[in-house]
Amino acid sequence: MLYQSSRGKANPVSAAQAITMGIAADGGLFVPEKVPLIDKGDWQKLMDGNYQQKAVLILKPFLPEFSLAELEECSAKAYHMERFDDPQIAPLVNIEDNTYIQELWHGPTCAFKDMALQMLPQLLTRSMVKIEESDDIVILVATSGDTGKAALEGFKNVDRTRIIVFYPEEGVSLVQKQQMITQDGNNVHVAAVAGNFDDAQSGVKRIFTDPSLSNRLAQQGLKLSSANSINWGRLVPQIVYYVSAYIDLCAQQAIKEGQPVNFVVPTGNFGNILAAFYARQMGVPIHRLICASNANNVLTDFFNTGVYDRNRHLEKTLSPSMDILISSNLERLLFEITEHDAAKVSEWMEQLQTQGRYEIDPAIREKVQSIFWADYCSDVQTLETIRAVWEDKRYLLDTHTAVAFHVYQSYRKAVADDTPTVIISTASPYKFGSSVARALFSQELIQGKDEFSLLKMLSTATGIPIPRGIEGLESREIKHNTRTEAGAMEQTVLNFLQI
Ligand SMILES: *Cc1c(COP(=O)(O)O)cnc(C)c1O
Repeated sequence: MLYQSSRGKANPVSAAQAITMGIAADGGLFVPEKVPLIDKGDWQKLMDGNYQQKAVLILKPFLPEFSLAELEECSAKAYHMERFDDPQIAPLVNIEDNTYIQELWHGPTCAFKDMALQMLPQLLTRSMVKIEESDDIVILVATSGDTGKAALEGFKNVDRTRIIVFYPEEGVSLVQKQQMITQDGNNVHVAAVAGNFDDAQSGVKRIFTDPSLSNRLAQQGLKLSSANSINWGRLVPQIVYYVSAYIDLCAQQAIKEGQPVNFVVPTGNFGNILAAFYARQMGVPIHRLICASNANNVLTDFFNTGVYDRNRHLEKTLSPSMDILISSNLERLLFEITEHDAAKVSEWMEQLQTQGRYEIDPAIREKVQSIFWADYCSDVQTLETIRAVWEDKRYLLDTHTAVAFHVYQSYRKAVADDTPTVIISTASPYKFGSSVARALFSQELIQGKDEFSLLKMLSTATGIPIPRGIEGLESREIKHNTRTEAGAMEQTVLNFLQI
C-alpha cells in the first residue's frame, strides 16, 4: 500500500517513507491510498488476541513492508509491562448502564500520547533501515506539556535518534515540568524557553525551515524530524485501541458482535478522534463519533456550521492539552470525506493559511454530520463534572476526560440515542492534579499548597494510588536545567548536538 499527500502535489510513497518524512513535500499529510477492511478471519484473531497481538493485526495491512515478526517485536517493546501498569494496556470501565470509559493513560507518562509514542520510535527506526536512510534523526518537539514527556520516554536510548524538547517556561504544570527535567536517557535534551507555548512552537517551526541549519546538521550526518501527530506513525497505533474497546464490549457481553457503538473523544489536534474514524472505515461498527472541545470550540462550530474559523482568541483552560485553534489532522478527514479530492482540500488549507477560515459545501457538511456530533464544555462545567462523577460514581476524571463526559451528557439531552457508548479517557487525574483537587476540595483546604501536596491529598481522600510515572517525582534528580531565549533556540540545538 502506498501513501498519498492530502494535497495531491507530491508523489505517493511507501509506509516507511511516510513515517520517516512525517509530512509530504507539498505540505500535505500522508493518507493511505485505500483503508484496509477487517475481514471475518481477522475478527476471530482479534477476538482471541491480547492487546499486543491486536496491534500487530491492525498495523500489518497499513505497513506492508514490515514483516509479522518485526511488528511483533515492535508491539512487544511498545506495550511492555515494564512501561504500562495495567496488563490490559487500554482497560474499559463500566461507569453506568451502557456507558463505558476507556483508560488510555496506563503508560509511562500517564497520558494517552504514550499509546502512540511508545510505538512510533519502533516504527521509525525500522523505517530508516528500510529506506536506507544514512543520517541519524534528531526529533525536535515544542510541547505544551504531554507530548514532550511522552516523546522523551518513547525515544530515550533509541539507537540512531536524538530528541530535543522545548517547553515554555510559562505554561506547563509543575508535574509536567518535573517529568521532563528529570528525564533519563543517553540521547535526550530538554530546554525551557523564555515565553509561552507559541514562542516555543514558532522557534521550532523556524528551525525546521532554516536551510543553513539543516545544512550544518547534514554535514554531521543528522536530519531533523518531528514526533507530532501529523506523522502517520503516530496515528496508526491509535486505531488499535478503538478496535480493542469494541472487542472488550463484545467479550463482556455488553453488545453482540456487529452491534454499533459510539465513541466520545476529548479533542485538540483531531488525531485521536481521527483514529476512531479510521477504525470505522476498517469496519468497526461505529454509529456516532462525538467530538468534545473545551472553550476553544473551533471544531464544535465547524461540525455544526461547516465553517472552520480560527480567527479568535486562544483561551487558556483547565484542559490545556486541548487548547488549540488549528486542528491539523482535520485535513485528513476532509480528504477522506471528499473521496480524496486533493484539489478541494488544498484550496481550503490555502484559505485557512491566508484568511484563517474556510467553509465546506453543504453536501460535504451533511456527510460529516451523519457521523460526527460536536459540543464543548466550559471550565466551570469541567470542575462540576469531576465533582459530580466522583460523588455519584466514585470515579475520578481528569479535566480532559471531564470535558468528554460533560459533552456526552449534552448529547444524551439533545439526541435520543441509547447506543452503548465509550468515553475516551486521555489522562490520569494525577497528571492534572491541582485542577482535580480544586473540583473536590474547598478553597481553604487547598490554599497555599503546592501541586505535589495536592496529589497526596487527593490520593488520601480518594484511596486511588498515585501512578508510578508521577509518584515520588518531586524528589527525583534534576538532569536538565538549560534555559533559552526564544530567539536563541537554533544555538541551543547546535549546543546540544555539539556542533
Ligand atoms: C493531546 C491530548 C488530547 C488531545 O488529543 P488530540 O489527538 O490532539 O485531539 C486530549 N487529552 C490529553 C490529556 C492530551 O494529552
